[in-house]
Formats: sequence, C-alpha cells, structure tokens
Amino acid sequence: MVDIDLQKIREDFPILNQKVYNKPLVYFDNGATTQKPRAVIEKINEIHSLTNSSTHRGVHYLSGLMTEEYEASREKIRAFINAKDKSEIIYTSGTTASINLLAFSFGEKYISEGDEIIISEMEHHSNIVPWQLLCERKKASIKVTPFDENGDLLIDEYKNLFTEKTRIVSIAHTSNTLGTVNPIKEIIDIAHSHNVPVLLDGAQAIQHEKIDVQELDVDFYVFSAHKIYGPTGIGILYGKQKWLEEMPPWQGGGNMVKNVSFNKTTYNNLPYKFEAGTPNYVGAVGLTKALEYIENIGIENIRTYENKLLHYSTQELKKIEGLRIFGNSKNKISVQIFNIDSVHPYDTAMILDKLGIAVRTGSHCAQPVMDHFGIDSTIRASMVFYNSFEEIDMLVEGIKKAQLMLQ
Ligand code: PLP
Repeated sequence: MVDIDLQKIREDFPILNQKVYNKPLVYFDNGATTQKPRAVIEKINEIHSLTNSSTHRGVHYLSGLMTEEYEASREKIRAFINAKDKSEIIYTSGTTASINLLAFSFGEKYISEGDEIIISEMEHHSNIVPWQLLCERKKASIKVTPFDENGDLLIDEYKNLFTEKTRIVSIAHTSNTLGTVNPIKEIIDIAHSHNVPVLLDGAQAIQHEKIDVQELDVDFYVFSAHKIYGPTGIGILYGKQKWLEEMPPWQGGGNMVKNVSFNKTTYNNLPYKFEAGTPNYVGAVGLTKALEYIENIGIENIRTYENKLLHYSTQELKKIEGLRIFGNSKNKISVQIFNIDSVHPYDTAMILDKLGIAVRTGSHCAQPVMDHFGIDSTIRASMVFYNSFEEIDMLVEGIKKAQLMLQ
C-alpha cells in the first residue's frame, strides 16, 4: 500500500495554498464541505467555456455532447457504488433533497396512518425533519434508536423498535458529529429480517470508504457531491429498481414525462421519472471528475491516512486540560467534536479563525446529539487526506492560546 503524497495532493487543491489574515489557511471544516481539486475546477470551467448545452432535448452538436457526458457520469457513479443498473442512480441537488424525495415518494406509496419509521438519535436534521413532515401528513410516527456515551448505537434497543407497523429504517452510515461509523450490515440485516427496507445517509461516509450497495444489500443510499470533493448543488439517490419503479414521482415538470395532455400525463422511465427540470449536468460531470481523482489516490489509502490523522488528533487533543471530546467510538472517521471547560465554543473558534484555522461551531444540524450531552454547541474539526499532522499541532496550539486568553 502506497502512502499519501501530501505535498503533491495539496498542490492539486488551489484553495489550500493561500493565507487568511496573513496566516496559512488550515481548513478543518471538511464535514461541512470539502475543497475541490484542480481536475474538478478545470472541467467545470471547460464545460462553461466549450460544451455547455442543455441535455436530452436538442439534436444539435453541443446538446448531444453534453448528454453523452452527463449519462457517462451516471454510469461512473453506478460503478463507483457498484449499483446493478444505472437507472438506479437518481440525480438530486444533494443529500437533503434525496431524503426529502424518498420521504415524500416512498411515503405516498407505502406509509399510512399508524405506521412507524425508525431513525436514530445521531441523525443530521435532514434525516429527521423530512420524516416528521411525512408523519404529520400521514399520521405516522418516528421511533428513535439511542446511542451510548461513546456514541455507539444501542443495537439491542434498535432490534426492539420493530413492530408490525415498521415501514422503513433511515439511519446515518456515519455520524457528522460523533464520527461513529455505524454497523450498517447488521442494521440492514435486522431490518430485512422484518421485511423492512433501509435508507443509509452516506453524506459522511462515501468520501472515507468504499461503498458497494449490492454487497450491503441496502435499499437506498444517498450522498452529496460537495462532500466528496465535487461541486455543490448535486447529489445522488441510489435506490433498488424494485422500489423506484413502484414509487410515484416527487416533482413534476419537463424531462420526467413521456406524454402530457390535459386529460392524461404519463411519466418517463427510471431514472428520469424523478428528475424534473433542466438537470445539473455541470455538477454531474464535475462529480465524475472528483470520483476519478479519489480513485487515483485510492480510497483505501485515503482511509489509512485519515485514520492516522484521527489517532494523532485524539491523542493530542486529550492532552489539553479541560477539553472533552464527544464521540469516542472505536469505529470512527477523522472528525472531532469537543468543548473546553468554561470557554464558549464560539469564542474559541473566533480566535482560531484569526490564526487562520477554520473549524465549525454550533449544533452541526444535530440538536438531538447536543441534547444527549446536555450542551448547546461544540467545536468541530473535521480532517481529510489533504490535512497534515502539522496542522493538527497548529490547532492544538491555537486552542491553548484561546484557553489562556479566555479562561
Ligand atoms: N446528512 C449528514 C450526515 C450530513 O453531514 C449532512 C451535511 O452536513 C447532510 C445529511 C446534508 O447534506 P446536504 O446539506 O449536502 O444536503
């Protein structure tokens, strides 16, 4: 296994090689969004400079070219997650849109009054609120799998949540706060033993490990391009064909129809049935470039290096007196949420910012996780393969400086 060539990698990301407040930028906000390699930036620029044209609806040269690239991207994404067929790859605007699509469409078809949906206590708001909206509409209810003090899901409690009324499980593959990588195979197998399908929110997983949807036998898998080094405004809903075929359309408009008349409108085949309007072909092709970039480095190499960042940051942060890390699962990605005794996270983050270090503060769109620990907010430092051990040292020094100034 080759190690990471950090210097070369950092040259691939132009944004990283700049100063803020006259200090080298240390970017630890990768959980919110990742930076883009030159290959993605240049491809997007090339499209806008040379090949831009709306897909599927034109016979002219550029439209044909763009359509080809757009559909080749779908094939690339299919292969990346090993879906069976490219009609199972639906383009959306991101993870949030993918979950809303599913909650609406699956909900229309399969959820009735009294039905139950299982989620978990560590979900991002985008995997809570769409289900709550559905439950309000259908008079259904949500059941919540709790996690323990380390941030691991309580699988025995999860097992006990199933009843005759359970219709779907929707759970994060990996938590955006605790960093926990959930035991997804076990979660899926338990749900399937009750004939219940599973959606995995892969927003914080797809960029850290190899996903094989067929091997997992997962029913739905969602993610956002911008968290895997691709552009904003595009994401994926993978769904098994048997579900997608039966689910009704979510949004109406161009592209998702075969025939429109005032008497009767017929819908397009998969995947277009779920893709109303002019598609984000620029985003789709940009995402493809990001996936190619990652494949060139090797997802296993990325994972190994990020694990080292995780262990080093855990070791160094724990040396700081009065610092508490929330989320200590043995199976965790390289993200740390933490607070420092008697110092507000916002104040620390402001000082870190002036040192050129970008971290995130707040509830990270996961208020139930904050409630679990009886807090309002934390600092979050999320590290990826273009971050260095020296940057972790800078973070630690910055926190100590903030402590001295604020305590
Ligand atoms: N789910 C998780 C676990 C996330 O971390 C995020 C974003 O931070 C989302 C869903 C929502 O993703 P997006 O805002 O790209 O739709």
